[in-house]
Order: sequence, then structure tokens, then C-alpha cells
Amino acid sequence: MKSSVRGACPSIAAPMQTGDGLLVRLIPHEPMDIEKLCILCTAAEEHGNGIIEITQRGSLQIRGLREGSASTFARVIASLEIGADEGPPLVTSPLLGHLEEPFDSSTLVSSVRNMLQQERPNLERLGPKVSVLIDGGGPLHLDVVSADIRLVATSNSLFQLSLAGNARNAKHLGYVPADRAAATVGELLRRIANRGPTARAKDLVLDQGIPKEIRRSLGDSLIDGPEPDTRPFAEAVGVYGLATGNVARGFALPFGHTTAGALRRFARAAADIGAPSIRPAPGRSLLAIGLSPDAVDKLDKSAVAEDFVVDAHDLRRHVVACAGAPACASAELPTRQLAPEVARAIRSWAGTSNIVHLSGCSKGCAHPGPAALTLAGPNRLILNGRAGDTPQATISSAGLIADIERLCGEL
Ligand code: SF4
Repeated sequence: MKSSVRGACPSIAAPMQTGDGLLVRLIPHEPMDIEKLCILCTAAEEHGNGIIEITQRGSLQIRGLREGSASTFARVIASLEIGADEGPPLVTSPLLGHLEEPFDSSTLVSSVRNMLQQERPNLERLGPKVSVLIDGGGPLHLDVVSADIRLVATSNSLFQLSLAGNARNAKHLGYVPADRAAATVGELLRRIANRGPTARAKDLVLDQGIPKEIRRSLGDSLIDGPEPDTRPFAEAVGVYGLATGNVARGFALPFGHTTAGALRRFARAAADIGAPSIRPAPGRSLLAIGLSPDAVDKLDKSAVAEDFVVDAHDLRRHVVACAGAPACASAELPTRQLAPEVARAIRSWAGTSNIVHLSGCSKGCAHPGPAALTLAGPNRLILNGRAGDTPQATISSAGLIADIERLCGEL
């Protein structure tokens, strides 16, 4: 098994070396059967260090695998058939197939997966970060998630097609009928692959739009139409009604991580009260899907017992922390150790959308965008900027929490 280099995309086949061992990232395309999630948790304990993360994009990360254990872990994951297969990352809506929808976007997900299998020989040069997103709509849409190729369901059986970004900044190309969407994705992926392993969808887009020859190759599949409006923020922490009359209950992991033991206990508690599946979701969250509405309070107690976030207004939702030291080899700040104290120090931000970003180094993996306040290792303080920006000040570890409390009050 080869390891990926830092900055690449750590997959099951190519885990990434970090400070606490090898890291793999999985994107389940569908809700995970709870028994399978429990097997995954046990494998993360046996073959890794038992730390499990959910990223801002809703991927699962398993940390602390070793050279000798990563391939065994990969075999366990393959046997679970949870859709975390090789090929371009395929990001889908967390409640896809569970909502009243004008048409079933799950069919498109299956078509795209089949197309990716068939096209595998033509996509060998595709870079590992090139991703495809299928947004079936509903309250937990994917507007904030970036992808190379985006397909977003509309109310008239068409998918909006855009490239290279999130809903706000991706290049809008038009609309494709559902039955031609998988072929359109295939055509675009082949064109990206032909440009080599470092190419991304943004390389297909010129300032004035998509080049004529690509538009021609998409042919009648592409229908002109105005760009849709972005939707209100999708908050995963909450209760969402499903087409069956049951509900999905969303929680968040505190600062995006937990232990395999905590996740397994929570999953078993969810199964005991009737939830058949769990799915990681964007915003470092996870959804228990298919609960009776009466069972929500009981599951909330189990989530609180594991220190999960049950309230969308929990101050921990205002703190974004990367793995930091000692987990990441590049880190110069123990971000996750600091995070709970920082969350308590930002009480004055309750009810705001402000974010404190604790970044072990200037790379800013956990939050590439600007934050109201960023502390980047070892001591760089950046206001309204990114982890790599020029700092306005340095901050000493002795007075760090008091300084953050004061700054939050002033911002
Ligand atoms: S931002 Fe954090 S996780 Fe990313 S490389 Fe730096 S220390 Fe590591």
C-alpha cells in the first residue's frame, strides 16, 4: 500500500502520513447501516489509534493507522461495501432518497457510480482531489460544499450544472436533464483527466465561461438558463422530517472529532431505539436517520453522554480546529487541546455567525476561508483573515485564553 503525500487526498488505497500515523478519508455515498458503522469503529480501534473525525465536507477520517495495519483496515472497509470505493470523491446530500422529492436523485447517484466504473480506464490520469457533487435539494443542501463538478436538482427534473466551487462561486454552465447527467459528468471528467493529474475543473473554465469546444461536446445535454439563487444556510444539527413520517436527527462532533468507542456506543443507542442508519454530513456532523419522532429525546441523551453537540447554538460550533499537535506532523499548536477553553471564552459571540479558527500551521486545512479570528501556530493572530495571511499580532500561550476573550468582546 502506497502512502499519499501531504496535500494530496488520503484515500483507503493511499493513506496520508501524519503526526499520529496514517490517515484515511472515506466518503460514504449513502447512510451507513449501524452494524457496519460499528464494525468500522472497531476496525479504527484495532488498526488505528481510535480517533475518528468528520470533516467540514462530511467525510469520515480514521487516524493513526500503521504501515502494517492500513491494508487490513482497507480490506475491512471494502467488505462493508459502504460506497467508499476508489475513484473521484462523490459527495451526495445527506438525506438523499429520504425526502419528498420531485424526482429521485438517488438514481442519478447510481448512474454516476456505474459510469465511473466503466470510465475507469479513461480516468487513470485524473487527480485524486477532483470531486463530483450531487445535491438532491431539501433542507440539508450542499451549497457551502465545494466540488469540481456540481449537479444540483431543480424542481423541473433538470440538474443545474456548475464547475469549480461552491454554490456561490462555481461557474454556472446551465441545466442538464436527469437522464443525461451521468454522461455529462463523464465527458467533463475525461476532459479534466486528459490535462493530467494536477488538473482540476477550474482549468476547463475561461474568464468568459466554458470554451466552445467543451460546450459543443456536451451538445444538446446542456440547456441554458439563469443561475439559481443560493439558499439559506443548511444547519445539520436539528430534526428533519422524512418522507416516511419518521425523522433524521442531526448532531455534530465537538470540534469535528470523537473516539471510535464513543461513536459505536452512540450508534448502538440509535439502533436500540429504532434508527436503521447513520450518515456523516457536512459541517462535521452526523445524522441518525429513520427515527420515530418520539425517540428523539432519548437519542439526545445518548448524544449528550458522548459530549456530542445537540444544539445548533452550542458555542463549540463557533470553533474550528484542525488536528493540530501532536496528531499532525506540521502542527505548532495543540489546537484540539485548546478548543474547549476557547469555546468557553467566546461567550460574547453567542447568536452570531463568527468563527474562531485554531490552525496548527499556516496551511489552514480545517477552514480554508477567512474567520473573524484565527490563531495559527505557533502564535500568529489574524483578524478577519485566513491562516496563511500576514498576522496582525502574536499572542503568548500564557495569556492566550484571556486575550481571545477580550478580542471577541471587541470584534
Ligand atoms: S493546518 Fe493543521 S492539520 Fe493542516 S497541516 Fe497545518 S497543523 Fe496539520
